[in-house]
Amino acid sequence: MMKRKRILVTGGAGFIGSHLCERLLEEENDVVCMDNLFTGQKDNIRHLMDNPYFEFIRQDVLEDIYVECDQIYNLACPASPIHYQYDPIKTGKTSVIGALHTLGLAKRCHARILQASTSEVYGDPEVHPQPETYRGYVNPNGVRSCYDEGKRMAETFFFDYYRQHNVDIKITRIFNTYGPRMRPDDGRVVSNFIVQALHDENITIYGDGMQTRSFCYVSDLVEGMIRMMNSRDGFTGPVNLGNTEEFTMFELAELVIKLTGSKSKIVYQPLPMDDPSKRKPMIDLAKKELDWAPIVKLEDGLRKTIAYFRTA
Ligand code: NAD
Ligand code: UDP
Repeated sequence: MMKRKRILVTGGAGFIGSHLCERLLEEENDVVCMDNLFTGQKDNIRHLMDNPYFEFIRQDVLEDIYVECDQIYNLACPASPIHYQYDPIKTGKTSVIGALHTLGLAKRCHARILQASTSEVYGDPEVHPQPETYRGYVNPNGVRSCYDEGKRMAETFFFDYYRQHNVDIKITRIFNTYGPRMRPDDGRVVSNFIVQALHDENITIYGDGMQTRSFCYVSDLVEGMIRMMNSRDGFTGPVNLGNTEEFTMFELAELVIKLTGSKSKIVYQPLPMDDPSKRKPMIDLAKKELDWAPIVKLEDGLRKTIAYFRTA
């Protein structure tokens, strides 16, 4: 009989984490989901609760973690700007102390550990598209810094545990990801536009709408994360995971209006501080090392996400 891997997913009740837990269970692993339910929800994992190989622990990653496991995916951290700026001190602590606690656990259990890092480590990039070698252009004391610098410090601790203690680390830098189970009040652009469009409310573009993002559908991202976790020994990353098709927020708004058949009008609101003007990953490294590239087109992913929000 195949031995199931025991896998800890912190932040497993969140948007990406719940899809990851689902996939890991489908692949016959034993999954422990640890989450404090700050932005995550039990509804995201309710369908997994009856599975005897799934376990939910309501716990903050700021507390010491005692479980036995073979692999750890560290996703615990609010990801939407309104949520991570709600209590920025807590956000910074979650990234940094959460990294220390999960790394300590990986060291004790000899587990392999993957960090959900972010394209935000590149800040408001001067290099476009962004390769992993780009060191970023980040404001150390702005409203986004709790998240950006927290994630950068987490990467630092990952590499220090790797160099100092031989911990088996993997780092993924995730670019804007969307899909079902984003919260309607999440504040991120895809969920905002869809919810507004479905209610025929004004679509709120911040700034002039010419800023760009590249949107990755959640199933593509989860595939990339799992491939990274199971990649060859010694390949630590960081590796970018994201879609390379770049859109302006204006184009996104028009597409959402078209796909929902909405009567919504576009309105313009002030651009938040330090909002990156462009973002698009270089994914040559993921292609080479993981044989991975996204396959879901924005229009198809949006259709699925819209269908979810119609019933959510
Ligand atoms: P999310 O907010 O839905 O998920 C984060 C989860 O972490 C939630 O379930 C939340 O309750 C939990 N959490 C937060 N603080 C915690 C704490 N102190 N202790 C325990 N659990 C805690 O966001 P998401 O989009 O699913 O993001 C998941 C991870 O991926 C995050 O680490 C995020 O930084 C990273 N990421 C996401 C994106 C994206 O576009 N969605 C992009 C880059 C990086
Ligand atoms: N944005 C927008 N309207 C909204 C929400 C966001 O125009 O209702 C813009 C935001 O200013 C940013 C882009 O959409 O330029 C992506 O924002 P999001 O919060 O989704 O992610 P991030 O800025 O972290 O990439």
